[in-house]
Amino acid sequence: MGQRPAPRPLIAVPRPPAADPLEAFTEDEVRACVDYAKPRQRWGLAAYATDLLVLAALALSAPGRALVRGAAGLAGGWAPGRVVLAVVAVLVVRAAVGLPFSIRAFRQDTGAGLATQGLGGFLRDWAKGRAVGLVLTVVALSALVLGARWEPPGWPPVAAVAAALLVLALAMAGPVLIEPLFNRFRPLGPGPLRTRLLELAAAMRVPVSDVLVADASRRTTRVNAYVSGLGRTRRVVVYDTLLAAAGPLAPDGPGPSAGSGTLGDPGTSTGADEVALVVAHELAHVRHRDVLWGTIGAATLAAVSVLVAVALFDLGQVQRTLGVTGLGDPLAVPGLLLLAALGGLAAAPVASAISRWAEARADWVSLEVTRDPVTAVAVERRLALENRADLRPNRLLLLLFASHPQTMARISQAWLWEKRNGSSSSR
Ligand SMILES: [Zn+2]
Repeated sequence: MGQRPAPRPLIAVPRPPAADPLEAFTEDEVRACVDYAKPRQRWGLAAYATDLLVLAALALSAPGRALVRGAAGLAGGWAPGRVVLAVVAVLVVRAAVGLPFSIRAFRQDTGAGLATQGLGGFLRDWAKGRAVGLVLTVVALSALVLGARWEPPGWPPVAAVAAALLVLALAMAGPVLIEPLFNRFRPLGPGPLRTRLLELAAAMRVPVSDVLVADASRRTTRVNAYVSGLGRTRRVVVYDTLLAAAGPLAPDGPGPSAGSGTLGDPGTSTGADEVALVVAHELAHVRHRDVLWGTIGAATLAAVSVLVAVALFDLGQVQRTLGVTGLGDPLAVPGLLLLAALGGLAAAPVASAISRWAEARADWVSLEVTRDPVTAVAVERRLALENRADLRPNRLLLLLFASHPQTMARISQAWLWEKRNGSSSSR
């Protein structure tokens, strides 16, 4: 261990235990975050459990099955129509039951000052999201059920490969086909900030032609950044809300920072430093091909899921329980969606553990590259305060579902870097 001058592709990622939040936040700050996050979580879990119950009712109960059968029956004996209508029926019921939970979350955001759009805009976004989900589910399940019905040459391996390719295609096309449905993206304008970020990318040996800015402020005050896409659709995206503190696209460089200043940091890091640190984290994802590996993992899971579904629906016991004649039965749709949801739940602890590790690595690389732990802590404070992170997370929920290490673990990691390397000035 000890001092190392530059990041290497393979690095040991120190993951110190989370310090107490009161070491980095005031009591009032912790309370404000926790008071928002805890009810949000409870209602989120309630929504999740309700969704599983709805799926179980549609797949396993007589009235649930009758509802799906009735909807599918509208297509007469035409199998493709029956499958599509069965999917529509299940997803419409799920959406209708889930909507009150979504509206409650939106109202909480409005009350906390996090939402910047009205209920109408929120509902439009919600409907768009559901419509995209419906189209994708119709495509995937129609292919699976109709494939099982007609058993083309090479079935079922060919279906497993098709599922994997669908995931791959989605990861590649998502940034250009789906993300623009929800946000507008523009390249970060020329100026010191753009120059600085492209130099950062060059220093990290991550070729990037542009950093894109998403108009997240049309719906939220939350700050974020992400990487998505593969190959030619690969992109680094920052929310315009994140740039706000760097000044209007930071035409004049750092300057006095509204961002870190308002959050009680003694002004040792600037808005531009914060953006650079966040982008360094995202570039670390690119450098370590986290999106590619995540996609490969998801594609493999999809392929395995198809083979498992084929095998399960061959079992008489499963057919009797679900009241279907096999995977080729359009009424298999609710059972398939229930299995998918349970499979997702079972995979969540592993997937989220891998994700937390990749995030901790990206955090560590961003420290190695920027050598600026002061800004790293300022960024974590800002992310937590502006997004109302749960600063006292439940350990079990963290283990099961958290995609990122908790705030205090990330801050402890920055402190550890500082201890090992000495405090470097943030400028
Ligand atoms: Zn990340």
